[in-house]
Amino acid sequence: MSIQKLSSVLAQKYENFPKGKFITLVILRTTQSETIFRTEGSGERICSEAVQAGAPQNGYDESTIQRLVMTKRKQVAPERRFGREHLRAHELLHTNKDGSLCSLNTNAPCEMCVDCFLYGFAAGGGGAQKSRIWTEDAFSVLPSTDTLADRTINAIYENGTMRLKREEDTKASTSLNTSEYIKPGVHFLDVVTLKDVTSDEMRYIIGNILFTSRYGAVSSRVGRMENQILGVFGSICELPSSLELVQATYDALPKPLEHPLNTKRLIQASKEVISTWKNKRGVSVQLSEDEITALIADVEQHWSEEERDNFLKRLNQSYEPWRQVATESKKGKGKAKKEDASVVGNVGN
Ligand SMILES: [Zn+2]
Repeated sequence: MSIQKLSSVLAQKYENFPKGKFITLVILRTTQSETIFRTEGSGERICSEAVQAGAPQNGYDESTIQRLVMTKRKQVAPERRFGREHLRAHELLHTNKDGSLCSLNTNAPCEMCVDCFLYGFAAGGGGAQKSRIWTEDAFSVLPSTDTLADRTINAIYENGTMRLKREEDTKASTSLNTSEYIKPGVHFLDVVTLKDVTSDEMRYIIGNILFTSRYGAVSSRVGRMENQILGVFGSICELPSSLELVQATYDALPKPLEHPLNTKRLIQASKEVISTWKNKRGVSVQLSEDEITALIADVEQHWSEEERDNFLKRLNQSYEPWRQVATESKKGKGKAKKEDASVVGNVGN
């Protein structure tokens, strides 16, 4: 039902050329445990950005606050990994030119699997596929002063104590490990845009988002996060950004605000903000609460034990005509690589 309502903004089948169909997902991401978002290497502070507290309109909060940032990469990498685990389990990852199985973060993507077709790749061999999942940095509602905490631990020597056995060494360990973390119960608001996707592609992407539960530095103790879909829109252009959403929601909340924010009240405020989006230029569809619930049930059904194999294989099969075109053009001589790039690649423009 709700999928039908989106039919005007869903692609009928995968095609090589952009069609100006946008689906926007408004997502609330809430930390359920201590969470650590750090760029590679330790010792760096958790990513944050100074931005205006409220949205630029009448009566907004003009003060500047430091908001935590969940970068695009921190969102997408674990979500892709979730989908790819299942592609692997159902033997739907393809082999690349070197004969090895498609894998993330290598220079040899297979250019043939569901993940490559949807999330894109930059290949050394001349091909490139732009991602059709457009993400932005997500921002915390509350400032980093409320949402971060530090823990300082004395490094423990291998003998399990903070002192070495040597007699001359009577000093306690001074190498302190300070680890900064995001508190549990911190909310990030996020806008994810799907560009020219089919209904099965949308089910795949939403599944990746809803079923992924660990982000950032992952261990059995940290990084647990819950994702909720607050809104689904269809349009011919992009909708307001994650930052605009978080600022407008901040304005809509009764002050003073302090951690932990009441999730119910926050969801209510966000929904009030996005309810005005249906009047924005280019918006043709907004799913109601019931329709969002039905859409999520539809996604869960497709990902269920009974249907998953069928669903993933059908999605995989939908790219078959394009794989054949790519393989044929590769067989050509001379400018084969260039043809390959123009046939398979450059979905974005
Ligand atoms: Zn691949």
